[in-house]
Amino acid sequence: MIPYGRQDISEDDIQAVVDVLRSDFLTQGPMVKQFEERVASYCGVNYGVAVNSATSALHIACLALGVGTGDRVWTSPITFVASANCALYCGASVDFVDIDAVSYNMSVDALRAKLEVAKETGLLPKVVVPVHLCGQSCDMKEIHALSLEYGFTIIEDASHAIGASYMGRPVGNCQYSDVCIFSFHPVKIITTAEGGVAVTSRASIAEKMRLFASHGITRDPSLMTESTHGDWYYQQVELGFNYRMTELQAALGISQFTRLNAFVDDRNTLAERYDALLQDCSLVLPKQASERTSSRHLYVVKLKLEELKVSRKEVFTQLREAGVGVNLHYVPVHTQPYYQAFGFSSGDFPEAENYYESVISIPLFAQMSHGDQDFVVAKLKELLV
Ligand SMILES: *Cc1c(COP(=O)(O)O)cnc(C)c1O
Repeated sequence: MIPYGRQDISEDDIQAVVDVLRSDFLTQGPMVKQFEERVASYCGVNYGVAVNSATSALHIACLALGVGTGDRVWTSPITFVASANCALYCGASVDFVDIDAVSYNMSVDALRAKLEVAKETGLLPKVVVPVHLCGQSCDMKEIHALSLEYGFTIIEDASHAIGASYMGRPVGNCQYSDVCIFSFHPVKIITTAEGGVAVTSRASIAEKMRLFASHGITRDPSLMTESTHGDWYYQQVELGFNYRMTELQAALGISQFTRLNAFVDDRNTLAERYDALLQDCSLVLPKQASERTSSRHLYVVKLKLEELKVSRKEVFTQLREAGVGVNLHYVPVHTQPYYQAFGFSSGDFPEAENYYESVISIPLFAQMSHGDQDFVVAKLKELLV
């Protein structure tokens, strides 16, 4: 089976992890700090907080931005559930903004319209979480302008988008957001097995995220509410979690980072090859918006069902049977039974639901061979007659 995505692990990556196993620190040592600095400097921001997953990064970002009971967090319905769950962890409620029919990212027009209504009803969001779907940045400048007008903060879910750029700067630059989070799960652009990093240009937010990631405990006397008892003293100042990244993961991340740009280039080359090979099929191919480059995490094709005799389900199932590991990103979060219990129902976000009815993610990863890609294209074309 050709997988829809997979990691690329080199001998250097393996050696980096083995070296940590022979070192003094398996956790809370020098590698995590180095990895945080590496990610932050790549993005052009001052602070990076490494944690054990992007899900944890979303959670500590929400906590650091003060999300709590009675607050509202808005995100896109076309995302992994973690982009919404982070709000529920904090006792806040979640709402969604429909997607743009072309980019499949959060629609700025839908966001503006929803904000106007929310202002009338007194239900404005505290935080908005735009998701850079497939590795292509949302319209951050416009979303940021709305944040100033309506007074919300922004967490970019860039789980798909390390190595991408927006208006000439790397995604994660935080010019138009408060925090940006990345995932290093094995299917993403680079991996630490499990892992994530939250970057920010705001010192106070970084400090809070660091506290929440490690039990809410500090050894810094300036953060304590009482004078220190001595050099051994630590104080719990918040209810935090153990979300720390290990040294093994950070060493793998540092080693992977040296190939980030090569991975993104390979993915772009393969994606453009798909563009050329699939251009005459009954498919809507991914569109690249201006002023941004994509990390090409996913290659999503939309079936023109009205031109086809087969259903999406048939195409999906038959591709899997032929050894093509297709996938579907994503089931709209508001249609999940868990979310329907909050009062959401089918029909609430029509563009998202329309997207869900007709898309398939076809295999794309840095080391994919042209032979495998030709095989995927041939099998797909066989079904699209
Ligand atoms: C993968 C992913 C996450 C969660 O990442 P983990 O590191 O697995 O916790 C969150 N949001 C999006 C959009 C993702 O694709």
